[in-house]
Amino acid sequence: MADSETTLAVEATDVHKRFGSLEVLKGISLSAAKGDVVSIIGASGSGKSTFLRCLNFLEVPDGGRIRIGGEDISADDRIDKKRIQALRRHVAMVFQSFNLWPHRTVLENVTEVPVHVQSVPKAEAVSRAERYLKRVGLADKKDVYPSFLSGGQQQRVAIARALATEPDVMLFDEPTSALDPELVGEVLGVMRGLADEGRTMLVVTHEMEFARDVSSQVVFLHQGTIAEAGPPAEFFSAPKTDACKKFLERVL
Ligand code: ADP
Ligand code: MG
Repeated sequence: MADSETTLAVEATDVHKRFGSLEVLKGISLSAAKGDVVSIIGASGSGKSTFLRCLNFLEVPDGGRIRIGGEDISADDRIDKKRIQALRRHVAMVFQSFNLWPHRTVLENVTEVPVHVQSVPKAEAVSRAERYLKRVGLADKKDVYPSFLSGGQQQRVAIARALATEPDVMLFDEPTSALDPELVGEVLGVMRGLADEGRTMLVVTHEMEFARDVSSQVVFLHQGTIAEAGPPAEFFSAPKTDACKKFLERVL
């Protein structure tokens, strides 16, 4: 097997997506090796969420190709549910709004997908869930319903839920944007820990300090294209395009 085959975790090639007459992604190509943390930044409406959603086929791309965890789906292929499910087994997503199931306890939220989608035996799923809840600092909340938790705690449960599916790649879509400022740190702290563990993460974020300190690569999306990308030191110290300079002036 070629070296790139063994180290590549995600490869998106020339991904296109339109909604009616609105062309949202105009050919996005991006790859991440195992253990990479890619921060995706850009103005609201630039296509960041749509791109993440295309990676796990929550949106079906109109063109291009996605390779994740040995699965390889081209938009030209017949869209085959089984192959999409196979690809999704390698990916877990954390949303801005947590998306926990309100009528399930924390533990049930974390065991749901392993038990009902991945056919993990119940006892094993429970011990996995307990391990990951401990990992995010919430072992004592397992029998609580989400509405009794703070936003920061809910997002940490969502991260434990993602971890419990044991994905090859974790996608985060503005995981701290819905949080009160004093709760942002606890979630970023968990994410920094995951990066240190060598997990492959694609993170849409407005947290520039996180992007600078934690990422292996920063990608700037502008009007549906990658206007600029590079290692954070270079990216932040010497932005090349006007769009990127203007964006960084606004957010830094
Ligand atoms: P970002 O996450 O960078 O803010 P999005 O990917 O959410 O951007 O959206 C990019 C553009 O696509 C926006 O103009 C948005 O209104 C549009 N868009 C996103 N999802 C849909 C949809 N399901 N139907 C129609 N337009 C959409
Ligand atoms: Mg978005």
